[in-house]
Amino acid sequence: MKRAIFPGSFDPITLGHYDIITRGLTLFDELVIAIGINAEKKYMFPIEERKRFIEEAFRDIPKIRVMTYEGLTVDFCKQIDAQFILRGLRNPADFEFEKAIAHTNRKLSEIETVFLLTSSGKSYISSSIVRDVIRNNGDYTGLVPDTVRIKT
Ligand code: ADP
Repeated sequence: MKRAIFPGSFDPITLGHYDIITRGLTLFDELVIAIGINAEKKYMFPIEERKRFIEEAFRDIPKIRVMTYEGLTVDFCKQIDAQFILRGLRNPADFEFEKAIAHTNRKLSEIETVFLLTSSGKSYISSSIVRDVIRNNGDYTGLVPDTVRIKT
């Protein structure tokens, strides 16, 4: 059983994440979308809402599970018996950042990180840009799955 996790904050999930998840799905038997909880970080969306947006976006796909975790990503992988971490790469800055994390995770464990390159047309999308559009009352709906909607 090849199990991978796709870790992130997903504050909120974007079409960039969605793209990596649907393409990554073909590589593994099960993909756990793992929402990391960091007590020091301020989020725009509460954890329950971030989880619900993702669950609803993938409700018809049994190979996908959504979980939350605290602490080291590799410890969470060991806990749920996941052998792989899936990550997306948008640009050289992502590469440098991800390289250091992937090397560290290899130092701490046997877990392999698998990278997928962003699809053309999606590389500019990030949760922080989506949050900025939302804060300024812009139309964010073209940047996120249909399940991400702000209650007014
Ligand atoms: P974090 O808060 O840990 O940075 P994010 O929620 O920003 O997590 O991203 C989680 C993963 O999704 C990362 O691997 C990131 O590179 C990837 N990702 C985010 N947006 C895109 C995108 N537009 N295209 C490809 N990968 C993306």
